[in-house]
Amino acid sequence: MLNKLSFFKALQHDSWVKPFLKHYKKTLWLAIFLGILTFICAGGLMFTSGYLITKSATPPENILLVYVPIVLTRAFGIFRPLLHYLERLTSHNWVFKMTSEFRRKMYDALERDAVFFNNKYRLGDILGLLSEDVAHIQNLYLRTLFPYFTVCGLYVFIIVGLGVISPLFALWMLVLYGLLIFALPLWSVVVNGARQEYEKQLKNALYLDLTDNVLGVSDWIFSERANDYLKRHEENEAKLLMTQEKMRKFERRRDLVGQFIFLAIVVSLIIWASSRFGGTETDSINWIAAFVLCVFPLADAFMPLPTAAQETNVYLDSIKRLNALPNPEKRQKAPEVTAPYELQVKDLVYAYADGHHNVLNGVNLKISPGEKLAILGRSGSGKSTLASLLRGDLTPTAGSVTLNAIKTTEFGDKIAKYIGVIHQTPYLFNTTVVNNVRIGNEGASDEEVWDVLERVGLKKLIKKLPQGLETMVDEAGLRFSGGERHRLALARILLKDAPIIILDEPTVGLDPITERALVKTFMDVLQGKTLIWITHHLQGVEHVDQIVFIEDGQIKLQGAPKQLADNKRYQKLKQVDEGY
Ligand code: ATP
Ligand code: MG
Repeated sequence: MLNKLSFFKALQHDSWVKPFLKHYKKTLWLAIFLGILTFICAGGLMFTSGYLITKSATPPENILLVYVPIVLTRAFGIFRPLLHYLERLTSHNWVFKMTSEFRRKMYDALERDAVFFNNKYRLGDILGLLSEDVAHIQNLYLRTLFPYFTVCGLYVFIIVGLGVISPLFALWMLVLYGLLIFALPLWSVVVNGARQEYEKQLKNALYLDLTDNVLGVSDWIFSERANDYLKRHEENEAKLLMTQEKMRKFERRRDLVGQFIFLAIVVSLIIWASSRFGGTETDSINWIAAFVLCVFPLADAFMPLPTAAQETNVYLDSIKRLNALPNPEKRQKAPEVTAPYELQVKDLVYAYADGHHNVLNGVNLKISPGEKLAILGRSGSGKSTLASLLRGDLTPTAGSVTLNAIKTTEFGDKIAKYIGVIHQTPYLFNTTVVNNVRIGNEGASDEEVWDVLERVGLKKLIKKLPQGLETMVDEAGLRFSGGERHRLALARILLKDAPIIILDEPTVGLDPITERALVKTFMDVLQGKTLIWITHHLQGVEHVDQIVFIEDGQIKLQGAPKQLADNKRYQKLKQVDEGY
């Protein structure tokens, strides 16, 4: 039950699948209507042919008696493929139109965020979004939603049609068809959905295990434990195969049940038609054949439903991932705030969805306008997590992070206007130097670019390059060092001119001299801005106004560097950091 529900739950807060259903409503209805008509024609064709064949088997007294069924058979025969073709044309046209909009919306969501997206999303996720998820959503419409709408329309048509002739029998059909349309698919989702999930986990584990162990194969051999590894791998593989076999077995059983329900429908129809139309007249037998034959083409509509419903599990991840993207439609509504800018963190608790503990557990912090704050803490203590929370890239589990009393999550991508980030490894795009800097502000003039380059101490270096600003970053022989990359990233941020800057360990991996020079540059050029500097060592922290030390999800030490100078614990940290 859970999986089925989670699909609907995911759809409830969805801003990617549902809006598109509404968007081209007319075409959508036309496609569904054509789909229903196709099946009606298929049923009608069998109905009239059934009647015609049995009627023709008894010597007709007058050829005119079979004239009407002949015409109808021909008409249904022509219209069925024609309508089917039109239905395909309309629904595919709809889906392609829709997915092209869909891609536009997705690029839109990512594009404005391009400089910062490596902070929020991993590259693999983005590639997955671009290729796989669009295909999944396309399939969700074509293979699950369309057929379901069509079948529901057909269901109503059959039940109402039969209800006019015989309400009681219509009720019985309501139950049997209901089993086919709702009960079987639900059963399928509940049972195989869980297995699918398990299968996915096993597969992931196997991939990880395999890559890990192939890379570390020499260790296995040296430690003479190669056989252990092989055994473990084979066990996992066997588990996977067993799960897959179970799923196949279930599918066979489910299809058998489906066939039995269908058989029940056919048998019921025979019994009903013979009691209703049976009698002494020879004509009656024709009606029986007609009614019974007409249900067979409907099997094509009903039988794929359980598989289609089960596939929703596969689409669920795609829907979730898409909805985790910023919604470009909501972007316009982002709030505006004006200087002075004050960040306030209140009783902040954060746990990752897949984590077992609170990474942050009750953090309170006020960052005043223009303040320089250093956030210290061991690796894994939650510093980067706090940075993401400050920028509103993550939503607090409890408590709040506000910028001038507005939750930072509410700004969406507009937060970039207020809070800039420089990461440990800033990303340089494979384009010219000037383009790399201008990402911060598309409208900046060359003078402004030179100005920021000068401020970050790169002007000389860039001037010396043969093509100056137009030099390709990835051109052979031109490599920016770690420190230079940071300076370029800083230039970007300066051009953007956000009032609050977060530096997430901007000096990791640099030698002490470069590090000191870089820290000095940061401090100099970011004068007047609020600075949140995340680091796990103390080099240069004497420049800041306030230091906080995070441990076990909480702020364990807090104060100005001078105040802390007497603190035993701080002294010890400093000693460790300086390598005494
Ligand atoms: P470092 O100094 O090494 O950068 P950090 O203080 O920045 O460390 P975080 O990256 O904030 O630490 O991580 C804090 C904790 O949260 C770690 O235990 C980490 O394993 C966990 N964590 C981080 N990102 C995720 C994630 N996306 N999903 C689940 N857990 C995560
Ligand atoms: Mg970190």
